[in-house]
Amino acid sequence: MKKDVLRILMCASEAIPFVKTGGLADVVGSLPKALKKQGCDVKIFLPLYRAIKQTKFKLELCSDKIFIPVGVHHFTGYIWKSKTEEGIEVFFLEKDEFFDRSYLYGNPDPQRGDYEDNAERFILFCRAVFSLCMHIKWIPDIFHIHDWQAALVSPYLVYHWRTVERFGSVKSLLTIHNLAFQGIFPGIFFDLTHLPYHFFNMEGMEYWGQCNFLKAGIVCSDYISTVSPTYAKQIQTPEHGYGLDGVLRNRADHLTGILNGIDAETWDPSNDPFIPAPYDAENLAGKRVCKKKLLRELGLMPDLIDRPLCAIIGRMTHQKGYDLIYSIAPKIFDSGGALVVLGTGNPDIEALFRKLNTQYSGQCAAIFDFDEALAHRIEAGADIFLMPSRFEPCGLNQMYSLRYGTVPVVFATGGLEDSVIDVKAAPEKGTGFKFYNYSDKDFWEALEKAFKLFETEKWVDIQKRGMKQDFSWDSSARKYVNLYETILSS
Ligand code: ADP
Repeated sequence: MKKDVLRILMCASEAIPFVKTGGLADVVGSLPKALKKQGCDVKIFLPLYRAIKQTKFKLELCSDKIFIPVGVHHFTGYIWKSKTEEGIEVFFLEKDEFFDRSYLYGNPDPQRGDYEDNAERFILFCRAVFSLCMHIKWIPDIFHIHDWQAALVSPYLVYHWRTVERFGSVKSLLTIHNLAFQGIFPGIFFDLTHLPYHFFNMEGMEYWGQCNFLKAGIVCSDYISTVSPTYAKQIQTPEHGYGLDGVLRNRADHLTGILNGIDAETWDPSNDPFIPAPYDAENLAGKRVCKKKLLRELGLMPDLIDRPLCAIIGRMTHQKGYDLIYSIAPKIFDSGGALVVLGTGNPDIEALFRKLNTQYSGQCAAIFDFDEALAHRIEAGADIFLMPSRFEPCGLNQMYSLRYGTVPVVFATGGLEDSVIDVKAAPEKGTGFKFYNYSDKDFWEALEKAFKLFETEKWVDIQKRGMKQDFSWDSSARKYVNLYETILSS
C-alpha cells in the first residue's frame, strides 16, 4: 500500500553538518534534505560525539535516562535533539563514556588504531535506536541504516522488535558505503549483542568464527543498497566482495545501486563563499582568477597559470591510489604541470608527498590537513582532478570536480565508472578521462591525453559538458523513494 507520507529514520555514525570523516557524512546529511523535498518525513539519529558538542548547534535534552543492555552491563544514556536549517530533526545518543572522545572510530595513527570498544559503542548505538522511537513516540516506516556501525539495527528489528506490534510492519534498508569496512570483532563478542545464539552461524552474523556486524545487516535487512550501480555489481565478485561476495550474491534479488548525489548548493561555483571568484558554465573567467589565487596561496609558480594544475583531495589510504600518483608525479612535473594534494591519513603516504614537496617546490604543494574551505578553493582553482582509486563505491570528489569544471581523470571502477564519460570513448560527449587497467602506465596515458587536450579549444567543451551534468540529490532521492515504496510493498 502506498503511504501518503513516508517516515524514514536515518541511523548512521556521521552526518554533515554535524560531524564528518568521509563521504558517508555527506550522504546522510544531504539525502534527508532531498527526501524532505519529495514529501518524506525524515529524522536522523547519530552518536553525540565530542566534536558535535563543541559546535554551534543548539542541542536540547529530549529524554529521561534510557537504559541499554550490552553484554553484562546496563548502560544509561540520554537523547538530545537538534534541528538542521531545513527543519530536519536530528537526534543524538549521549553516552560520554563511549562518544566524548577526540576521534569518531579510533586514533588515526595506525599504531594505535581503532578504539578497542567499538563493538560495545555501536551495539549500544543500534539498540538505542529503538529507545529513541519509544521516547519520541514516532515509529518510522523504514529504518534506513548506513554501514557496519548501524547495521545491527536490522537484526534487532528482526529478533527483538518485530514481535512488538508497533514495529511489526517496519522495514529496513541497509546502505553500504564501503564494503572494506565491515566491523569485524572476536567471536566471543557475540555475547555482547544479546541476539539469539542460532544467529551466530554461517547464515547469520558469524564470519570465520568472528562477529561481522555488516554481514549481520546484510542477511537481516529487507533490502540492501550501495552507492552506485557498478559497485552493486562489483561487490558480488570475489575481487571486490571482501569475503562477502557470496553473502551478497545470495541477496542479489534485494540488492541495488543508487548513485549518490552531491549537495549542489554547497558545491556551486556560481555561489560558493569559499572561492575568490564565482563562475559558471556560461562564463569561466572566474575559474582563472581562482587558479591564480590558489597558485599564490600554495606558493606555486605564477607562470603555471597556463599549465595543467592537477589535484587530489581525500583520505590518504591504499584505496585512493596515492602510490600511482606518486609514481607518475615526475612525469607531471617534467611536462610542465603541477600537483596539489590535500589529505590526511597514512603517515607513509604523507612521507612520500613531503618528499615531493621538497624535491619539486614551486610545482608541488601537499597539505596534510582536513580543510573543507581549502577543498573548495582547490576544486575551483585546479584544471584536472586525479582519482586513481583502486575501488570507489561512489566517490564525491569526481562529481564536485565536474561541477567546478575541473576535468576528472579516473580509474574506471564503481561510481567513477558511472559518473564520468570517457573522452576517448565518446569525444563529443566525454566529461573526463578513464583508464581501465590498474597500472601507472595506463594512468599516465590517460593523463597525458588530458594534458594534450588541455592545450586545445576542445578543453572548454569538456569542462562545460561536465559542469552541465545533473548530480543533484533530487534525482537520487526520487530513486530512494521508489526503492522505499518497493520495500514497503513486498
Ligand atoms: P570517501 O568517502 O571514500 O572518503 P569520497 O570522495 O566519497 O571519499 O568523499 C570524501 C569527502 O571528504 C569529500 O567531500 C572530500 O572533499 C572530503 N575530504 C576528504 N579529505 C579531505 C581533506 N583532507 N580536506 C577536506 N575535505 C576532505
